[in-house]
Amino acid sequence: MEKEEAQNQSLIKEELPSYIIDLERFEANNRSFLSVTRSRMCPMHRGEATSVGAKGAKAGDYIFKTIGECCSKAEDFLPRRLPIREAVFRLLLANRNKPINPIEIEEKLREWWREDADSRDLSPQLLVRLLDSSEFYGFKLYVPQEKSKS
Ligand SMILES: [Zn+2]
Repeated sequence: MEKEEAQNQSLIKEELPSYIIDLERFEANNRSFLSVTRSRMCPMHRGEATSVGAKGAKAGDYIFKTIGECCSKAEDFLPRRLPIREAVFRLLLANRNKPINPIEIEEKLREWWREDADSRDLSPQLLVRLLDSSEFYGFKLYVPQEKSKS
């Protein structure tokens, strides 16, 4: 990467919003986060997850750990034809819901999809629009805690 380009990217990075999955949104809508994420797990954990039965933050811990350490390592975790929202959802699952911004999303998807990503629009504008308008996946803007200045 050219130096100038790298600088531009880091500038943009700071201004772009980051996203996480809002687990509370699932609960508020009476949807089980575990049953939504189960189909993204590997066959072994899909079976195990049925008997976990945990809710809320506990289920979240189990899901993020399981997918992060195991299921996301599968070669077909992010198939190339995956819709973008679904792909971002899986990226967040794989990274234990660590806030991610559109530049990082694009980088990661291009890493996964290589030349198949060339024909896809992964621009920050599109990503922000998709993520801001998705009730199903529970994406939420990540707001970093302000450090109190005293
Ligand atoms: Zn697994």
